[in-house]
Amino acid sequence: MTETAHFAKNWQQQLAQAFTNIDDLCQYLDLNPSDLAVSTSAAQQFALRVPLSFAASMEKGNPHDPLLRQVLPITDELAFYAGYTNDPVGDLPAATQTGILHKYQGRVLLINTGSCAINCRYCFRRNFPYADLQLSKQQEHAVIQSIQNDPSIHEVIFSGGDPLLLNDARLSRLIEQINQIDHIKRIRIHSRLPIVLPARITPELIHTLTQSPKQIILVLHCNHANELNERVINACQQLKKHGITLLNQSVLLKGVNDDATVLCELSERLFQHGVMPYYLHLLDKATGTGHFAVSETEALLLMERVQACLSGYLVPKLVKEVAGAESKRYVVG
Ligand SMILES: *Cc1c(COP(=O)(O)O)cnc(C)c1O
Ligand code: SF4
Repeated sequence: MTETAHFAKNWQQQLAQAFTNIDDLCQYLDLNPSDLAVSTSAAQQFALRVPLSFAASMEKGNPHDPLLRQVLPITDELAFYAGYTNDPVGDLPAATQTGILHKYQGRVLLINTGSCAINCRYCFRRNFPYADLQLSKQQEHAVIQSIQNDPSIHEVIFSGGDPLLLNDARLSRLIEQINQIDHIKRIRIHSRLPIVLPARITPELIHTLTQSPKQIILVLHCNHANELNERVINACQQLKKHGITLLNQSVLLKGVNDDATVLCELSERLFQHGVMPYYLHLLDKATGTGHFAVSETEALLLMERVQACLSGYLVPKLVKEVAGAESKRYVVG
């Protein structure tokens, strides 16, 4: 029997059955929570949440598994790190009012939903009641109107949280409205679901996306080659087959992917399955995430080694977000 036999039938059920409890996850992985420096108070601040499809790619019995490290609440999160704040990229004031972020020329980002299928410990989202910021159905109309009225915008980015947590009806209504706007050339979706809950990539979703006359770009978020299990690969193949451009962004994370071999393997495997590496982000300095930080100096040394082992087009751009800047900033030596 293959592992897939244990998965609930549809993505909504899989989402509902995600691990939310440290002990359950540890038991599934044959690990003893007391060997892992787990922290229930970290979990109270930001809940543990891991779909089985993602947990199934972790190595059983390995307390240092790079996928486990991304999701397990540990005592390190409670340590103080200077310079870490609750709004490291300065997005919050703008986003709260409107559910939309228009920071960069030509592109507008919609906060389609506040929630995610997985809770990544390194995420800046951990410190906000992000669900309160999401674009409501009522705001949606005003937002579409303002995009319509601004011909300088040529790309709409669905973000969040995870925009693919919206149901198909809501997504297709939104896309249909954007389809009507001539000056929009592309719709870009930033989602981790193809990686952590690949069952979300249904024929209906693909139909919704490919019905649009706009070019569709899906930017995945995968940090380690081990995340690319057979379910994820299959979802990527389906998307690719229907002409959807697939890119990937990763976050550079200590103890997860701060290693040239790991990063090279990630790029190679992504490309093998039709995904182009796009960005490698330096960590945003959000409270509770300091133990994941890789310094700029270390990151640049790492990139030299990565560049030495990869074809040029497989090297992701090392970037950081700078509050108030007009674009993501390239980190260069
Ligand atoms: C990252 C980001 C974008 C997209 O930037 P690209 O460099 O085009 O990927 C757009 N708007 C906001 C607010 C962003 O943070
Ligand atoms: S926004 Fe992205 S990084 Fe943050 S919790 Fe959701 S999936 Fe993880």
